[in-house]
Amino acid sequence: IIQLYTPLNWFGTYYRMIQSSFVDMENMFELFSEEQEVKDEPGAGDLRFLSGRVEFENVHFGYTEGKEILHDVSFTAMPGQTIALVGPSGSGKSTIVRLLFRFYDVWGGCIRIDGQDISKAKQVSVRSHIGVVPQDTVLFNDTICNNIRYGRIDATNEEVMEAAMTANIHDRILTFPDGYETQVGERGLKLSGGEKQRVAIARTILKNPDILLFDEATSALDTKTERKIQSSLAKVCANRTTIIVAHRLSTIVKADQILVIRNGHVIERGRHEQLLKKGGLYSDMWAHQGSEMPSGSDIDSKVSLS
Ligand code: ATP
Repeated sequence: IIQLYTPLNWFGTYYRMIQSSFVDMENMFELFSEEQEVKDEPGAGDLRFLSGRVEFENVHFGYTEGKEILHDVSFTAMPGQTIALVGPSGSGKSTIVRLLFRFYDVWGGCIRIDGQDISKAKQVSVRSHIGVVPQDTVLFNDTICNNIRYGRIDATNEEVMEAAMTANIHDRILTFPDGYETQVGERGLKLSGGEKQRVAIARTILKNPDILLFDEATSALDTKTERKIQSSLAKVCANRTTIIVAHRLSTIVKADQILVIRNGHVIERGRHEQLLKKGGLYSDMWAHQGSEMPSGSDIDSKVSLS
């Protein structure tokens, strides 16, 4: 009976994992109650991933007819580069990230990955190359081990552990009452925001995507947690094209390119030092210690700038 029961139980676990993956996807982009709008063209082919060049060319987009949110957004992320999107709350940063994940198709212009228009490729194939670290990660009611394994459900326990080490969450897991077998989620151990984000990073490490989208948490993190996230982020970003909705100085300073978004326009672009010299909105934002940034949590790191 036990032998018969085990595979069923196993199936149950993975069924729940797969089910919850949809919840996770939707939740992270706050799309829970929305219909999927994107339909593949008949006969659409798979995206052929080459080196990870991401291009937005004169992109226009809005969620509701007559209300355009993004106006003529253009930028190119070269393979392996990290692009930071910064700007006031509601300016359109997350919208840019959602469009790249093909949650919606653009109204005008074009988004390309390695020269291919993503609206002409199968949505599922576009997404298979992209890993997302959302701001709020949903943990499902299962062990912490299975929660991480959800990044790639055939990963071995050793691989899960390695990913946890790279994501700087392994040592913390060892302090849990049952280590990797500790139940987490609503009915188990609750993790802090910083811990959940590291679980999301560990999942992404297992998924090993070609392109990474990272929505940095705006919530307050203590300096130690922030350092841990930064160092694991640096590891996952290395050599893969990364687009970050950035709130933290350490992320922004190191980015290859910063796009300052305001009211759906890219109003400034360049590296941190260049933008500071320019004396525009970006340098204003830093001078005013976050008054225009969506988060007050990174005051610590901003102080260290001056
Ligand atoms: P934040 O830093 O607060 O996350 P953001 O720069 O990421 O902000 P977006 O989430 O991209 O901003 O939102 C841009 C604009 O689009 C806002 O005016 C927002 O109200 C609107 N918007 C976002 N999501 C939707 C949606 N699903 N339906 C309709 N309007 C939306």
